[in-house]
Amino acid sequence: LRSELDNVERLTLVGQMAAGITHEIRNPMAVVRGFLQLMQEKSSSELDSYYQIVMEELDRANSIINDFLSLAQSRITDKEEVLLHNIIEDLGPLLWADANLRGQSVELKLPPSLPLLQLNVREIKQLILNLGRNAMEAMGDKGVLTLELRSVPGRVEMTVRDTGSGIPETQRDKLFVPFYTTKSQGTGLGLSLCLSIVERHNGTIQVESEEGKGTTFIISFPCGQEEMGTFALAE
Ligand code: ADP
Ligand code: MG
Repeated sequence: LRSELDNVERLTLVGQMAAGITHEIRNPMAVVRGFLQLMQEKSSSELDSYYQIVMEELDRANSIINDFLSLAQSRITDKEEVLLHNIIEDLGPLLWADANLRGQSVELKLPPSLPLLQLNVREIKQLILNLGRNAMEAMGDKGVLTLELRSVPGRVEMTVRDTGSGIPETQRDKLFVPFYTTKSQGTGLGLSLCLSIVERHNGTIQVESEEGKGTTFIISFPCGQEEMGTFALAE
């Protein structure tokens, strides 16, 4: 128990430091961005493409800082008893809007009754949005993102399926490594964050993928008494 407490405190400290540092970095970056915009307005069009690149790189650095902050602030979080169902429905409009802009569509397959789960709502939203965004980025227009829930004994399974490019076999074990990305504007932190969220919920995450056909992420959350039983024994 002692070392567990140490762990919690250490994580909190890392989270606090990360918050402090990212705040101190984000502020000067916002100032730089603002002045760049002013300089662009006053300068010749010859330099436009340079400004474009500088802005994009600033934005990318900002994304990395934001994702890193989420990752570093991960700790044993408050959970409440909720229906995963409701969280997904809440996110529906956001996903649809994103997909619409890309000429893609989103399908939700949510069975009417599913067991309650112990979840941190904020983190689960982040998980779904990260997986959804990756899916959309892997698909062209007409792509379909499907979110599906399924109840299996002792667990609830959530699948996030896309009709995108798929992931080559050789890349599959690198997916969850921090900073691994194949995108020019990627941070490579999205899936690391997803994995840490799933682990904090005592869940599992699996990937199935076929090149040129699409990718499916399967996340499984424990529900009900089973988990409590193991805790009681461990005490
Ligand atoms: P990022 O999205 O910033 O690149 P992630 O950690 O979210 O970082 O994803 C890491 C890499 O995994 C991506 O760069 C991409 O190559 C691959 N990937 C993740 N999700 C998918 C998907 N649904 N389809 C195809 N490739 C994916
Ligand atoms: Mg991503």
